[in-house]
Amino acid sequence: MIRISHLNKIYYPATDKAVQVLKDISLHIHKGQLVILKGVSGSGKSTLLSIISAMDKPSSGEVIVDNKAISKLPDIHASHFRASSIGFIFQHFNLLEALSVRENIALPLIPLGLSRKAIDLKVEQSMNHANISHKADQIVKELSGGEKQRCAIARALVNDPGIILCDEPTANLDRANTLHFIELIKMLQTMGKTIIIATHDPIFEEVGFHDSILHMTDGELSE
Ligand code: ADP
Ligand code: MG
Repeated sequence: MIRISHLNKIYYPATDKAVQVLKDISLHIHKGQLVILKGVSGSGKSTLLSIISAMDKPSSGEVIVDNKAISKLPDIHASHFRASSIGFIFQHFNLLEALSVRENIALPLIPLGLSRKAIDLKVEQSMNHANISHKADQIVKELSGGEKQRCAIARALVNDPGIILCDEPTANLDRANTLHFIELIKMLQTMGKTIIIATHDPIFEEVGFHDSILHMTDGELSE
């Protein structure tokens, strides 16, 4: 499902010397697995997730997702791949604050050219899964942190992606909302989603629902 071989990522900042952020990473994640990606800040977790989601390109190496060499896709195909295969949940939620919950959740569907009716149905289902239907028409700006994260989860689910990537998903949540988030992740797990959670929140290990834990240290991966 996700097969990475000899992945390297080097940044060339304009004013500084080149930095190698990912170093010869090889990795195989099967469909339906839940993987925790640990590592201190700056170790390369977000960079790895952005390459798996085809938001960023590797400097060398290969990334195969759903039998597609996504590291080699031209941008237009990369965004189509992302729209149909990936749900991304961010630390800062990355919602449009001035839009309603319903509108935010519908956004990933726009490139797919669906009918209004089909969009409404998918948004409705997704809101039900993430338990945020009661806030459907509220402006995101007016939501609590936990509600924003539920909205972000509903948005990540609306395309029915096979892969869910979470980048420090509980960093801005209190304990109660973190536990709620974990329940949602368990539900996604039973739906057969492949899930990667980049986090240093120890709670994910304590829950014990993971198939493996990967450690990122200064751009290198170990199990
Ligand atoms: P993490 O998510 O584990 O905190 P990141 O993947 O965000 O780590 O960053 C890894 C390293 O790459 C950091 O040292 C960061 O400063 C560097 N980095 C990230 N993006 C860029 C960029 N666009 N240009 C230069 N360096 C970057
Ligand atoms: Mg990060």
